[in-house]
Amino acid sequence: MRNSDSGREPRTPEESFVCARCGAVAESLPVTWTCSVENGRRIYFCDTCARENIRSIEGRLDSSWW
Ligand SMILES: [Zn+2]
Repeated sequence: MRNSDSGREPRTPEESFVCARCGAVAESLPVTWTCSVENGRRIYFCDTCARENIRSIEGRLDSSWW
């Protein structure tokens, strides 16, 4: 029998989210931020940049939708 009470996994608590446009940093993902996937990568936009970027996102969706 093995008693492993020292098996703590070193998690990275400093997982921060960075806005891909203006470089704003948030410790936890705010609900106002937008998550987008480009080329298999997850990128985030803050609420301000998401508002300006939503046009290109929608434009891209629109072109590939049909
Ligand atoms: Zn931003």
